[in-house]
Amino acid sequence: MNLSVIGTGYVGLVTGACFAKLGHHVTCVDIDKEKIRKINSSVSPIFEEGLDSLLLTYKDKIAATDDYSSALQKSDITFICVGTPSLKNGNIDLTFIKESTKQIAAVLKNKNSYHLVVVKSTVLPGTTQEVVLPLLEKYSGKKIGDDIGLAMNPEFLKEGVAIKDFLDPDRIVIGSYDEKSKTTLREVYQNFSCPLLETSLAAAEMIKYASNAFLATKISFINEIGNLCKKLGIDTYDVATGIGLDKRIGRPFLDSGIGWGGSCFPKDVDALIAWAKEIKEHIRIIDSTKAVNTEQPLRLVEILKKYIPTLKGKTIGVLGLSFKPNTDDIRDSRAIPIIDELLRNGARIKAYDPQAMNNFKALYPTIDYCSTASEVLSSDAILITTKWKEFTTLDYRGKVIIDGRRIEQAKNAKIYEGVCW
Ligand code: NAD
Repeated sequence: MNLSVIGTGYVGLVTGACFAKLGHHVTCVDIDKEKIRKINSSVSPIFEEGLDSLLLTYKDKIAATDDYSSALQKSDITFICVGTPSLKNGNIDLTFIKESTKQIAAVLKNKNSYHLVVVKSTVLPGTTQEVVLPLLEKYSGKKIGDDIGLAMNPEFLKEGVAIKDFLDPDRIVIGSYDEKSKTTLREVYQNFSCPLLETSLAAAEMIKYASNAFLATKISFINEIGNLCKKLGIDTYDVATGIGLDKRIGRPFLDSGIGWGGSCFPKDVDALIAWAKEIKEHIRIIDSTKAVNTEQPLRLVEILKKYIPTLKGKTIGVLGLSFKPNTDDIRDSRAIPIIDELLRNGARIKAYDPQAMNNFKALYPTIDYCSTASEVLSSDAILITTKWKEFTTLDYRGKVIIDGRRIEQAKNAKIYEGVCW
């Protein structure tokens, strides 16, 4: 099939490259010319395992452009994968969704054949029907359901294992406006073997928010259990194994630590809270999930102060800046509130991350960045903030280590303490 993908970020580019691998012809559209140039040179603008190789192997099947018209004229289905960040009040910012929808509609105005528009970005329930649909109709002058189809197909991939997740998902959700949109999108996914769930537009949107809120809650829950376990001298990881063996619970997302971050959980939890407030529904569990996550990283600094009460003038090492391993994404990384707190206390920071230092430099240009993880170890004390595999091979002997991510090898340190253990 001929597909177009709007937005070439973590979701859009992985979607485009994976569809190319599956035999489709894909045109990616972005407003960022540097990203377009890189994709057309088969170089991924983001760090995601396997993406460079997919772009190179399937270079005849994928191209990028900033021209909506050529991309949409060449394709029958368009996936909207632009960002949906948070506004200051936590609400979802639909600027990119609205802008890309208007541009799609302007091209479809002059297109004679049927075209399906699929919202893949995470948007609050009601957005596809109440925001995307009217804009498509207004700027194309056409009726949705006749010449233009509309569907909502949330994405569940995880950065770091995004290609595997896309190609081998747990489920595919297709929310559709009408029968033709549903059958057209179903065809795109016909060779996937996972369950395919067909729903309304709003149910598809809600499934994405409910999934992320649940996973964030699972982490905040185990962090609270971890905080309790630490006080009682119980190993929270044994507890996680014990409860995780229960099939109703499951072991994933039960690693106690300094909390969740990234491009999705924080903004999706915030959007759900803000939306619930708007519709006058008090969602207590999700409110608490966020509150636990705000406090959890700061516990690492509290523990550090047990060993170094006055941080002013001390050099504190920070191992890990990405929000999780195997990505260069630093959005809402737990390293951010920790570094803010250290700086507020007058500490000097020496940081290292295998992939995320360039992104971090844009936010914190003045802290010291080390070219190796070992260099960080010369600090007065070291905080472990991301579970990169590389950190398991360091020689921690003689060091003061406060661990937020449970690196077993760090237990060889002179002083070792974990956030929940
Ligand atoms: P991103 O910020 O990495 O990428 C968005 C891209 O859209 C950027 O390249 C930007 O230049 C481009 N863009 C913005 N406006 C545009 C326009 N008018 N026309 C064309 N391109 C435009 O975002 P992301 O992380 O890929 O997330 C995209 C969506 O997918 C979000 O709604 C997010 O919540 C959701 N999602 C993300 C993940 C994830 O792990 N990152 C997982 C599942 C779902």
